[in-house]
Amino acid sequence: MPVRRNLIGLTREELAAELAPHGIDGFRLRQVWHWLYHRGGRSFPDMTTLSKPVRALLEANYTVDRPEVATAQLSNDGTRKWLLRFPDRQEIETVHIPQEERGTLCVSSQVGCTLTCRFCHTGTQRLVRNLGAAEIVQQVMLARDHLDDWPSAEADRAITNVVLMGMGEPLYNFDNVKAALQIMLDKEGLALSRRRITLSTSGVVPMIRRCGEEIGCNLAISLHAVTDEVRDELVPLNRKYPIAELMEACRTYPGVHNARRITFEYVMLRGVNDSDADARALIALLKDVPAKVNLIPFNPWPGAPYECSTPDRIKRFSDIVANGGYSSPVRTPRGRDILAACGQLKSASVKKRRSEIIAEEAAAAASG
Ligand code: SAH
Ligand code: SF4
Repeated sequence: MPVRRNLIGLTREELAAELAPHGIDGFRLRQVWHWLYHRGGRSFPDMTTLSKPVRALLEANYTVDRPEVATAQLSNDGTRKWLLRFPDRQEIETVHIPQEERGTLCVSSQVGCTLTCRFCHTGTQRLVRNLGAAEIVQQVMLARDHLDDWPSAEADRAITNVVLMGMGEPLYNFDNVKAALQIMLDKEGLALSRRRITLSTSGVVPMIRRCGEEIGCNLAISLHAVTDEVRDELVPLNRKYPIAELMEACRTYPGVHNARRITFEYVMLRGVNDSDADARALIALLKDVPAKVNLIPFNPWPGAPYECSTPDRIKRFSDIVANGGYSSPVRTPRGRDILAACGQLKSASVKKRRSEIIAEEAAAAASG
């Protein structure tokens, strides 16, 4: 049996090239696209506007498979987390956060992360690989299946916003992230709005301009510290791209202006980056940048080397930044009970593997 190719994750151009040899082009090609991404069709026989021979041809050669769901969890605040498993057994997590006026899907861009921010659980994961464009798009497809969010309606969608804030550093997987976002933005398909897609980066300076020029989505910067000394410690990538270079890339981010500000994420770590002086230095740093600040209470994970700042400290920090002229809401942690909050994502398979490794090491030590 020849392996059937999955059509999910092909860009329009790739889909056209794939189906042209079968004589599917023009209007029929658009119909297929519509079924894949507007209707979310999960099997070719269901795609009833296509002729029977076309359906049979597609069925014989292709799939519209979603990744396997290893586990699905529902938090008591409505947040959902899916642990998805790809055919090579690698796993990633996707999180849905329902809010009053919107629904946000937090998508992963890599299995694990090559960076090692000290406060981030994903950064402790050893196995790393990039996700393909298909695997990024599939996260949206699967979430919409589970949330009963088809077809791509104008209003009342379960997923209105997508944030690349799951596992991985999206700017280290630029081409696949870009292709996936192009598919998500297609008006005749998933039809997400560019203004409602946010890419979060720990500060891969050379890729920031390309992100603005070639993707044009909102940008979030994981700043977390106001001096190179502290940021070198928290976000080791800072040693390569220090704060001054990062801020310069932000000042010149294509399309940035007051109506479209850059979000600066700042994780509140007790006694590390949360003093009044830090808050004032943050205001100074943001001078001339159309910016808003998102204060994230540190989400602890087992064995984490930090504690979250006290609520009073966070409030005081937020007030100082707000008085300096920058909106600085404190992000309410969501899905903490199912370890779905920011920075807690780490796939279970690797945890299992690590425990296997520990067991193996113990066995080796005992026998040696
Ligand atoms: N790699 C990208 C995107 C994924 S991380 C980045 O670093 O921006 C998404 C956000 O969660 C980042 O702002 C990250 O700094 C933050 N984060 C990581 N670990 C956290 C934790 N334990 N508590 C709170 N926020 C955390
Ligand atoms: Fe990677 Fe982002 Fe975590 Fe840093 S915070 S280790 S860049 S996922």
